[in-house]
Amino acid sequence: MANGVVTRLLSTAETLEFEPHVRAVKVLRVEATGIIDYGGVSRVLARKAAENGASLLLNARVESIRVDRSGVSVAHAGGSVRAGLLINCAGLHADRVATLAGVTPEVRVVPFRGEYYELVPARRDLVRGLIYPVPDPALPFLGLHLTRMIDGTVHGGPNAVLALSREGYDWRTINLRDSIEAISYPGFLRMARSNIGTGVGEVARSFSQRLFARSLARLVPEIGRDDIVRAGASRSARRCPRR
Ligand SMILES: Cc1cc2nc3c(=O)[nH]c(=O)nc-3n(C[C@H](O)[C@H](O)[C@H](O)COP(=O)(O)OP(=O)(O)OC[C@H]3O[C@@H](n4cnc5c(N)ncnc54)[C@H](O)[C@@H]3O)c2cc1C
Repeated sequence: MANGVVTRLLSTAETLEFEPHVRAVKVLRVEATGIIDYGGVSRVLARKAAENGASLLLNARVESIRVDRSGVSVAHAGGSVRAGLLINCAGLHADRVATLAGVTPEVRVVPFRGEYYELVPARRDLVRGLIYPVPDPALPFLGLHLTRMIDGTVHGGPNAVLALSREGYDWRTINLRDSIEAISYPGFLRMARSNIGTGVGEVARSFSQRLFARSLARLVPEIGRDDIVRAGASRSARRCPRR
């Protein structure tokens, strides 16, 4: 409400009109929520930027940055660029790119992996839209939710486990530098200490399809172990302040 989002409190009976299989004491319905093909959106934005005179350099990993009085020089894999202003929006690598520019970031990126399952085709009708739990404000994660994608598949997840590589999409991908930097960082250690129980539960859920299904069943009780199959993983950043 503070953000101007229009919500409606639904009773259990009203909820079942929208999501017949959901279990809830009460539900906040957000009429304006939606899901988009973000790849499609990005392609349109790229086209419009190009039409307005911007040049897009893709697959150009920034390797060094030199800042001087009149601007900034950025060397990348395929050459270099000179500009008056540099905006660092390197996501999961933003702290390292900032360091390249001589800035000491106040936060460090600690990578977490979110793992997903999807409902098998015969059970997709259990979910019509987007079903979220009420988030626990004490935790840095949103909680497992169910999402009907624009192609009709239904994803359940993500959990959140420490990724042993910034670009690590499974347990087998390990990068020593990334792992040591993450687990030796005071901000991460403090977060880990205060969320140890949750962390252990997340790792257990990462290895157990039964536990994953049980968590999804808190939203839709009919979901069982055999109703889900593994889908891809994603990674997201937790910005951990040092203190
Ligand atoms: C599975 C998943 C679901 C999500 N769902 C939602 C949602 O429903 N709604 C929502 O609002 N948000 C959602 N988010 C969050 C949202 O996707 C992110 O917050 C958002 O993408 C962050 O955008 P960004 O531009 O900061 O970083 P990114 O999208 O990560 O972009 C960073 C870019 O920088 C590039 N880069 C990195 N290092 C370098 C370098 N050295 N040189 C050059 N380029 C570099 C990367 O290749 C990348 O293209 C979701 C995230 C995940 C992982």
